[in-house]
Amino acid sequence: MNEITIFAPATIANISCGFDVLGCCLDTVGDEMVVRKVPEKGVKISKIEGVDLPFESDKNVAGVAALALLNEFKKKLDFGFEIDIYKNIKPGSGIGSSAASAAGAVFAINELLNKPFSKLQLVEFARKGEELACGSPIADNVAPAIFGGFTLVKSTNPLNIIELPSLEGLYTTILHPQIEIKTEDSRTILPKKVALTDAVKQWANVGALVHALHTNDYNLFSESLTDFIVEPHRSKLIYGFDKVKESALKAGALGCGISGSGPSIFTFSKNHQIAENVANSLNSIYLKNNIPFKIYISKISTQGIKIINTK
Ligand code: ADP
Repeated sequence: MNEITIFAPATIANISCGFDVLGCCLDTVGDEMVVRKVPEKGVKISKIEGVDLPFESDKNVAGVAALALLNEFKKKLDFGFEIDIYKNIKPGSGIGSSAASAAGAVFAINELLNKPFSKLQLVEFARKGEELACGSPIADNVAPAIFGGFTLVKSTNPLNIIELPSLEGLYTTILHPQIEIKTEDSRTILPKKVALTDAVKQWANVGALVHALHTNDYNLFSESLTDFIVEPHRSKLIYGFDKVKESALKAGALGCGISGSGPSIFTFSKNHQIAENVANSLNSIYLKNNIPFKIYISKISTQGIKIINTK
């Protein structure tokens, strides 16, 4: 195989109660990437379409993650890699734009090298890219992009990712106001200490959410989607958040929260029809503002990154 085309999915991190540990993968929202072997050694970003991003390998998360992988590949290579990135997700979206590129690059190179690395190792390389994007090597977006479905980052040192089942037929509707909130900035507004009473409620919800996924329990899943710690601070950065949440729940959503560090707002629905109803309600609320926005509807993917084509 000399060339591979992949779909690099968007992801929702945090999922209300699971700040920095929970994430899930989207099925139809994401970027495309083409990675090919070339005679020149190393990693070159040869094309970026859709948004303005650096082409230098050490300034683009795809390049940083790819180089982290190649540093660990012990056999001598007499070729290198060229990466084309077709971005559909704006950086600073909160739905894992940087994670899609980092995860996509290492997944594709691993395929071209005949899969010497495990999925867990790929997450390890990809989070080096995340370190460039947001200042710390977070794994809660790259893990679901690589493993698919829902994931829990059990620990970061050593890295331990737990794959969780998804609920059957689960859909997400995402409202993406077209303003950029950098992960780095939205982390600085968070409190350094939390009240024990809030922490107790929060970890009860994380446990309940994990149980709900294992037992396919939509009611418990819905009841667990509350964030007592982060959302009260970050929601202030997102125009109209409370109204959006209220209307999504009224339209039948199981829950609503801030995706990653925002500004995207995610909702979950039991089926496609409810996801459409939620989209209509979010659309009518945000049309009243002057802020441009996009709405995405997607199934939750259990697959993660998908191979579109190989040559
Ligand atoms: P998101 O949640 O959308 O990934 P982040 O703030 O975590 O947002 O990451 C966006 C930052 O990463 C921006 O500063 C962007 O310039 C940088 N970046 C570098 N390479 C890429 C890439 N290939 N895709 C997206 N963002 C990138």
